[in-house]
Amino acid sequence: MTNKKGNIGVTTENIFPIIKKFLYSDHEIFLRELVSNAVDASQKLRTLAISGEFKGEADDLKVKVSLDKENKTITISDNGIGMTEEEVDKYINQIAFSSAGDFLDKYKDAENAIIGHFGLGFYSSFMVSDKVEIKTKSYKDGAKAVKWECNGDPNYTLTEVEKEERGTDVTLYIDDESVEFLEKHKIQELLDKYCKFLPVEIAFGKKTEWKDGKDVETDEDNVINNPNPLWKKMPADLKDEDYAAFYRELYPMSMDEPLFNIHLNVDYPFNLTGVLYFPKIKSNLEINRNKIQLYCNQVFVTDSVEGIVPEFLTLLHGVIDSPDIPLNVSRSYLQSDSNVKKISGHITKKVADRLFEIFKDNREEFEKKWDDLKLFIEYGMISDEKFYERAEKFSLFKNTDGQFFTFEEYKKHIEENQKDKNN
Ligand code: ADP
Repeated sequence: MTNKKGNIGVTTENIFPIIKKFLYSDHEIFLRELVSNAVDASQKLRTLAISGEFKGEADDLKVKVSLDKENKTITISDNGIGMTEEEVDKYINQIAFSSAGDFLDKYKDAENAIIGHFGLGFYSSFMVSDKVEIKTKSYKDGAKAVKWECNGDPNYTLTEVEKEERGTDVTLYIDDESVEFLEKHKIQELLDKYCKFLPVEIAFGKKTEWKDGKDVETDEDNVINNPNPLWKKMPADLKDEDYAAFYRELYPMSMDEPLFNIHLNVDYPFNLTGVLYFPKIKSNLEINRNKIQLYCNQVFVTDSVEGIVPEFLTLLHGVIDSPDIPLNVSRSYLQSDSNVKKISGHITKKVADRLFEIFKDNREEFEKKWDDLKLFIEYGMISDEKFYERAEKFSLFKNTDGQFFTFEEYKKHIEENQKDKNN
């Protein structure tokens, strides 16, 4: 029977005050970190099932988030790979150690499926908790379940417990300053923000239904995410309606249909997927209402993409997902990062190519939308030399009769009348 006490292996005397202080403004990310860990653990099990190393059932993977307001707890549960006692020791107690590296060494191909590179990870739970408890049981044959408990100083306890199911339950005992996270709407809001497109189903309580004048819970899980977002699918399998529907999924408050979309799908020299939309902009006020959202393997990171996307494209809407964008770095570092520069250049090229394609294939449509498009295109031409070179071919001038010309066409058109005395 295990009954262990110990000291968490941190080099600093006490890391918790540091965690609390330095991440003060961003307390809410604890939920993103814990749900991402649970999703990672589920995907690792999926990988093991595919390689044949895990023989059991891996089709029922689900992460559950539950709230107990009375006892002031939030629990994040998964039925992923779980941890043995040794693994808890290695991955949780030795704080600076992250198993993502170990795992990746072994399963190179699974690389993209593993989210875990946000840095602080599990320990961010102490930003909002007095005490954190992990109950976990590994998928390995004969593994014993263990419970790890820690109340925010470097002392922890690790004991053997009963747990039927494989996987991990992390329970946070929310502290007095963080009671806002015990509100259902708050958790719902955070799940919507960070977890809406995570690749494993995430359930937050049960669906409710209106019955006899009040909301009653049903038996059905309230799944808050879409594990198969459109940008991960093959463009060839998608129709215009699918893109329009996804736009509404991204921006439920938006009434307008976008003008065009661009599906990004790059795997060399960096990895990037996404869908960008040219919105219809009706007033100055609306310009920055919906923004491009940046994801890292389907985890929401930010919607301030300045420095990653060329400035004139920050007016577009949509999603960019890349495991290759460094996340926990300053904005100035981002702007000088060579990967980011390449990504930015590539997006510019894709946008220009797509516009040219529409111009070529459907000029009438392009002209009809020109008044809405020209803001982007002309701004892009002024601010980005590379874009200028490409856009010269499809940038239009409109005469007083409402006819459209490219620069070359217009030059030809007026040649007759525009001769000097030497012809
Ligand atoms: P990271 O996720 O960046 O590796 P964390 O501090 O969040 O760092 O987690 C450390 C390690 O603990 C993970 O790499 C993983 O091995 C293990 N771990 C955390 N949460 C879980 C979980 N829900 N199921 C299984 N293992 C987990």
